[in-house]
Amino acid sequence: MGCGVITCCSKSKKSIARRIKSIYLEPEIFLGVRNVLNVDNYEILEILGSGGFSEVSLAKHIPTGQKRALKIIHKSPLTVQQLSSEFMVIEMKLLRTLDHPNILKCFEIFEDKENYFLVLEYCEGGNLFQKLGPNLKDETQIADIIYQVLSGIAYFHDKQIVHRDIKPENILIESSEIWNIKVADFGSACYLDKNKNAEGVFGSPFYLAPEVLLGYYDEKVDIWSLGIVLYVMVTGLAPYSGKNVEEVVNQIIDCPLKINAKTMPGQSLLLLDFARVLLEVNPGKRISAKNALQHPWIIKNAKSKTQTTGTMINICSRPLKSKLAQGVFMYIVACLLKSKDFCTLSNAFREIDTNGNGKIEPHELEDQLKKMHTEDEAKRKTIEFFKDFDYNNNKFIEFTEFVMACSDHQRLFSNELIGGAFEKFDENSDGLIDLNDIEKVIGPLNLNKDCNFEIKGRFEKKTTIDKKEFIDLVKILAE
Ligand code: AMP
Repeated sequence: MGCGVITCCSKSKKSIARRIKSIYLEPEIFLGVRNVLNVDNYEILEILGSGGFSEVSLAKHIPTGQKRALKIIHKSPLTVQQLSSEFMVIEMKLLRTLDHPNILKCFEIFEDKENYFLVLEYCEGGNLFQKLGPNLKDETQIADIIYQVLSGIAYFHDKQIVHRDIKPENILIESSEIWNIKVADFGSACYLDKNKNAEGVFGSPFYLAPEVLLGYYDEKVDIWSLGIVLYVMVTGLAPYSGKNVEEVVNQIIDCPLKINAKTMPGQSLLLLDFARVLLEVNPGKRISAKNALQHPWIIKNAKSKTQTTGTMINICSRPLKSKLAQGVFMYIVACLLKSKDFCTLSNAFREIDTNGNGKIEPHELEDQLKKMHTEDEAKRKTIEFFKDFDYNNNKFIEFTEFVMACSDHQRLFSNELIGGAFEKFDENSDGLIDLNDIEKVIGPLNLNKDCNFEIKGRFEKKTTIDKKEFIDLVKILAE
């Protein structure tokens, strides 16, 4: 329970509303940095890997039994600027705002004096680097992987974010059975400045775009790096023969990798053309992620792209009326479920998102609906869909909103998952929450609305409720 006793008279309601600014529901609001690592909730199972400032462990999230990856970023090597709250470690800042099926999900963020803790989706399939070799030779499989990575890249480029370290080690595979691809490790990422530029040398030598070594560059560096990933996947060869970093860097500046029938022998013309447009030396002429998604080699080969799952949107769920129930449902979808739980929906989402920017626009939904309905009906259904499911009112349906729209909340509102959401509101972990705790996370609730009468009734009787009462309340709100 938070500080301050809240009663439900209209005067105190008004003061809460004044103190708590209007908050739109979006996954970001559940990812505020908390100062306590709820250690009791996690059991560390093994170390997965480590980098300069951080290490990644496999951990079990005890309340749900899920496996998760726990990334610990040590504060001591970070600069004062990186540590200041304004700059907050960029990886944490970015991860909060990314909501896409091909970007590694972040479930929780904590900090203590020495470390930041990022709780991330665990990809038991490992990384692409571990899969390189003879087993990864099929052109359609390679195209499908590249398509999924491009889809994630197009989404964050649209948000002016550059990854700067696209390489096989940072392309994770959800599981050996499900080759759902997740772009990971935003530790080197940045926002483009107002002139749409970035600077600084980040990334691994083989994958560096030539312009990175010359000073200023833009988001196209990720496209170059992806071109090298494609080259490595297809040929199984290193792109440069340099024996040390200096030699490789000189080769990148003097004679960057050039694609032709000699450097990629035995490949189809379409594939050669695709590799060539990714590895165009002039970044101004290099293809964008959005356009690369429409390249004939991708259209012909990527199987995730050609699945016809458009019918999914026809079975959208009944919208939840109460903002509290919506918030709990969003938390469950964004922070408690694994992507495995909505794998088919990822494909449907990408299929509807024809321009590949990672969010569904009204005309894209309408075009899909027209395949199954008359034009008028498709228009009407699109308007309804946006009215019911565009929770942050930004005129796009983002991935979490889409999963919410197409999932059965009755099935997902289990005691265990609602209980997980309760912990998010119970900031000081004392097992009790009041109305202020809820409104601090999801914004003001209008208790005079019909859909919120049940909440008003509960908090009129007493100022706090425990986990069991919260679960009962949410279940009633969702009926
Ligand atoms: P990083 O410090 O982010 O480069 O991670 C180091 C290594 O840990 C990576 O190369 C991966 O093999 C592994 N790893 C990182 N994140 C995850 C994850 N979410 N799931 C599975 N393995 C991971």
